[in-house]
Amino acid sequence: MFALMQSAHVESLHLSIDPVTGLKAVIAIHSSRLGPALGGCRYLAYPNDESAVNDAINLAQDMSYKAALAGLAVGGAKAVIMRAPHVESRSALFEAFGRCIEQLDGRYITAIDSGTSTADMDCIAQYTRHVTSTTAAGDPSTHTAMGVFSGIRSTASSRLGSDNLEGLRVAIQGLGKVGFALAEQLHAAGAELLVCDIDPGKVRLAMEQLGAHPIACEALLSTPCDILAPCGLGAVLNWHSVAQLRCSAVAGCANNQLASLQVADQLERRGILYAPDYVINSGGLIYMALTHQGAQPATINQHLLHISQRLTSIYAHAQAEKRSPARVSDELAHKLLYDED
Ligand code: NAD
Repeated sequence: MFALMQSAHVESLHLSIDPVTGLKAVIAIHSSRLGPALGGCRYLAYPNDESAVNDAINLAQDMSYKAALAGLAVGGAKAVIMRAPHVESRSALFEAFGRCIEQLDGRYITAIDSGTSTADMDCIAQYTRHVTSTTAAGDPSTHTAMGVFSGIRSTASSRLGSDNLEGLRVAIQGLGKVGFALAEQLHAAGAELLVCDIDPGKVRLAMEQLGAHPIACEALLSTPCDILAPCGLGAVLNWHSVAQLRCSAVAGCANNQLASLQVADQLERRGILYAPDYVINSGGLIYMALTHQGAQPATINQHLLHISQRLTSIYAHAQAEKRSPARVSDELAHKLLYDED
């Protein structure tokens, strides 16, 4: 465990149990150099304790990178609550987690993530103020989608020579909270949508409301398109899938899209422009961090605008240095987090 913490540069790891509610929680704080560590709380079933700890550790670093590149005064963290087949009271479970967070005295701020909701954050908020994305603060997904949409514009501009999305074919994998909101914005901008989701109801809705073309889930990655937007799972880009891609660029909201950094080099060799996930999907974090700090909507919108500018700058560096944008952004984040100035 310590070796994994060391290789992921995780600052501290906190394990909590509450026998009364059945809570088993892991909080991995990656870095608090730039401020208190903010990161979502997952509530998922894990095959064993080790995989839950690994998930928290592996995801925490991306949050630090995301915050650093977004210019936010927060660090990065991730929490995981292990989902049991049966729980007596979901609200009691999240209240217990709120008490755990309070013990960290503001070093960790939690937020919504896979498997958690604004209602869960409300339960946590009864015991600590170190929580965002409550019902009052709002779900960050629409802001994530806004950032991805503007990032797709700059990606189109850098790779295809124009940010006009009219007639552009965008393949979206996953029509969840972010994917569907993104599809709506792309449709309004005149893009042609090719979509898939394991939930047929979401695909039907996109067909009816946005004129989207349905694609079988197993065929989406190899479907000819201009831009592929992974908006479902992590690690969709691996040696095998990248070899099958028939797109000019990959730009979507999913976290941890690359199975490894070497896959980014493979994309580069294939001439496929890759929008680093933690840069293009930072809109939600920007919204949560700034809302928590009491910023006004105008300030938040200003920050969101920087996403496309940041991507354009990363693409320009990558092109000049003939290497993947993923390597350029990792290097930038590393400098911000570790260089002494
Ligand atoms: P979500 O759970 O609302 O949506 C995910 C969607 O993907 C669901 O509709 C699901 O059915 C679909 N899906 C899952 N597996 C699939 C598969 N194999 N093929 C096709 N579709 C599949 O989640 P979300 O909040 O929209 O987030 C989507 C991704 O973006 C996640 O990776 C998340 O970590 C990341 N992300 C989300 C936010 C945010 O603000 N919500 C911010 C940053 C990153």
